[in-house]
Amino acid sequence: MRFLTGLVCTLMMLAFGTETGSAREAGAPEWRIVIHGGAGVILRENLSAEQEAAYTAALETSLKAGGEVLASGGSAVDAVQAAVLTMEDDPLFNAGRGAVMTAARIHELDASIMDGRERNAGAVAGVTRVRNPILAARAVMDQSEHVMFAGQGADNFSESVGLELVDNSYFTTERRSQALDRVLREQTRTDADRHGTVGAVAIDKDGNLAAATTTGGMTAKAAGRIGDSPIIGAATYAQNGVCAVSATGHGEYFIRVGVAKTICSRVELASETITAAAENALGQVETLGGDGGVIVMGGEGQYAYVFNSAGMYRGMMDASGAMETAIFEQGE
Ligand code: ASP
Repeated sequence: MRFLTGLVCTLMMLAFGTETGSAREAGAPEWRIVIHGGAGVILRENLSAEQEAAYTAALETSLKAGGEVLASGGSAVDAVQAAVLTMEDDPLFNAGRGAVMTAARIHELDASIMDGRERNAGAVAGVTRVRNPILAARAVMDQSEHVMFAGQGADNFSESVGLELVDNSYFTTERRSQALDRVLREQTRTDADRHGTVGAVAIDKDGNLAAATTTGGMTAKAAGRIGDSPIIGAATYAQNGVCAVSATGHGEYFIRVGVAKTICSRVELASETITAAAENALGQVETLGGDGGVIVMGGEGQYAYVFNSAGMYRGMMDASGAMETAIFEQGE
């Protein structure tokens, strides 16, 4: 099994399980945000210099949007929302505008968000009209007594709280339309047809964790298919003092392993490092036949990128002024 694990800060978590912002260890980052734009077979030889520059710029835009929220004292949950919102609006990513198409040639979008303070969460599945599914997920969390809405009801709920609705064709791009044609013709998906979800995890000045994930799913998915991205505990999880996770990959496997909650439970109950916990969960995904990756932030702001695919669009920004982005395997 091949894992790529990114930088992990050396701070140890000394206290587990607190649900509200805890005192921070000396040396912990004042705030930090980590993002992903999907994992998959992303090889340098398949990406032109222009494409690489465009993805890098888009990742930086997302990091800055989230970082601005955190730098001005905003919450982790507002930061992850701001970070993924820019990627939903950017046709480069498989989320919002630029999302992949179903076999019925429409877009059905999934998103979720979780606030580590009270483990409050919101999600929408199979939405077709709300322009920004992550805002719909947030509204479910903040403005309803429920955690998850699906389909027509989710779009209606979004409209009722004043979110912008669009025609489904707003999400369509030539690139995704051609990908659908190819998959329907060849009756097989390439790795890229299954990937491209975006997500973010963050810690704010008060030590609160949050996570968000949003996607179009996989190219030519059957009508009504729901992946892992809107499922709390599969692609998204956040619990203060423990960890925050956003996942991307072959959703059916991530649901079956319960990847995000598995990682946080291993950190909380077995005192594993976030890296060891993520490698274990992704190992289970791989054993079942799936691939993908996760971004993880620990209770003290330590972080990791772990993936068993050939690349993952990813990046980090923190209060020290540090900003990094990467696409390919480490060292490439
Ligand atoms: N996890 C998403 C899904 O299965 C796809 C992805 O991450 O790219 O819907």
